[in-house]
Amino acid sequence: MTDAVNLLDFDLDGLAAHCERLGEKRFRAVQLFRWIHQRGARDFDQMSDLAKSLRAKLAGSAEIRPLPVLSEHRSTDGTVKWLFDVGAGNAVESVFIPEDDRGTLCLSSQAGCAVGCRFCSTGHQGFSRNLSTGEILAQLWHAEHTLRRDLNRPERQAGERVITNVVMMGMGEPLQNYGALVPALRVMLDDHGYGLSRRRVTVSTSGVVPFMDRLRDDLPVALAVSLHAPDDTLRNELVPLNRKYPLAELLAACKRYLDTAPRDFITFEYCMLDGVNDSDEQARRLLALVGPKGPVGRLPCKFNLIPFNPFPASGLKRSDNARVQAFAKVLIEGGLVTTVRKTRGDDIDAACGQLAGEVQDRTRAHERMVRAPIRVVRPPPASAT
Ligand code: SAH
Ligand code: SF4
Repeated sequence: MTDAVNLLDFDLDGLAAHCERLGEKRFRAVQLFRWIHQRGARDFDQMSDLAKSLRAKLAGSAEIRPLPVLSEHRSTDGTVKWLFDVGAGNAVESVFIPEDDRGTLCLSSQAGCAVGCRFCSTGHQGFSRNLSTGEILAQLWHAEHTLRRDLNRPERQAGERVITNVVMMGMGEPLQNYGALVPALRVMLDDHGYGLSRRRVTVSTSGVVPFMDRLRDDLPVALAVSLHAPDDTLRNELVPLNRKYPLAELLAACKRYLDTAPRDFITFEYCMLDGVNDSDEQARRLLALVGPKGPVGRLPCKFNLIPFNPFPASGLKRSDNARVQAFAKVLIEGGLVTTVRKTRGDDIDAACGQLAGEVQDRTRAHERMVRAPIRVVRPPPASAT
C-alpha cells in the first residue's frame, strides 16, 4: 500500500490537520500519535480507544511505515547498530549507545552527504537524497520499540524510556535537510511523542550558517558544530563548506545561537587526524579562536575530541592516544572543558560513517576526492599572525 499516507511523516499538528481532513477532532490525533510513538503500534485494530469508524478510515488510507532493516549488529558493550534500507540501493545507519545514566541514539538525516568532508566515509560516498521526516523518525521508532521489547517492557512507564538522548550525528548533514528535520525534532520533543527535553536532542552540523539561525528561531535544541581545524586554510581542505561559511561567520552564528539555546555552550567536535590538525600549536590556535581576542570574542563552548575512525580510501590516520591527550591538555589548561570520545561498539564497526564502504558510491564523489589528494597546510605559528 505504497500510496497510503505515512503517519510517521507528521508532527502532532500535522497529524491533527490530517485527522481534521478525515472529519476527526484534535484529541483523536493525540490518541493516535501516542499509540504510534509511545506504544509503537502499527496495527490500527490494536488502537482500542479509537472509534471503529476512524480505525476503518485509517486502515484504508494510512499506514505507519517502518524502514526495512538490512542488518542489526549488537556489540558486547551493548551498542546496537541498525542498517536500514531506504531504497534504490541506498542504506542509512542508526546506532544506540547505552551508558550508565542514559541511552543515546544516533540518527541519520540523509542518504550520503553533499558536504564531502575529507575524513568522512559518508562524504566520500556522495549525496543520494534527503530522508523524509518519516524516514528519520522510523529509525527512532524502530530503535525505541525494539529495545523496549528486548527489555520486556513494551509499555512506557515514567522514567523508563530506553532512548533518553538523540544525536543527529549519523549519515548526512541535518541542516541541509531542514524541512524534514524540524517536524522530526518536534516529535522527539513532544510530550505525546518521545518527550525528550531540548537539551537531550542534539543537532550536529558542519556549519550551514543560515540554517543555524533558522533552527535558533524555530526550535533551538542542543547544537554541536564540527570544527576540525583552527583556521580557514585547513578547514577549507577538511570541510569544503568552510569556503562558503568561513570560521568568522560560523563562530558568529554560534554566538547568535546561544541567545536561545537550551544549553549555554556550543559543543565543538574535532576529529583527531594524525599530523593534520593535532599539534599543540593548533590547539593553542583553537584557544585563541574562541577566546576573548577571537573573531567574536569569548565563545562559551566545550570540545569533544573524536579519534578518527580510519577507512582506507581516506589516506588519513588516527592520532595516537598520547597525541590526543596532549592536545586535550593544552585545551584544558587554556580553560576549555574538553572530552575525548570513547570508541564504542568497535567489534561491530559502530563508529561514525563506518558503513559507507558497504554502500554504493552513486556520485563518484569518492573518486574525485582521491584524485585530489589532501594538502596538509601547516598554519604559521600564532605569534607570526
Ligand atoms: N553532518 C553532520 C553530522 C553527521 S557527522 C556533521 O558533520 O556534524 C557526525 C560527526 O562525525 C561529525 O562531527 C563528523 O565530523 C564526525 N566524523 C565523520 N567521519 C568521521 C570519522 N571517520 N572519524 C571520526 N569522526 C568522524
Ligand atoms: Fe557530511 Fe558530516 Fe560527513 Fe561532513 S562529516 S561529509 S557534513 S556527514
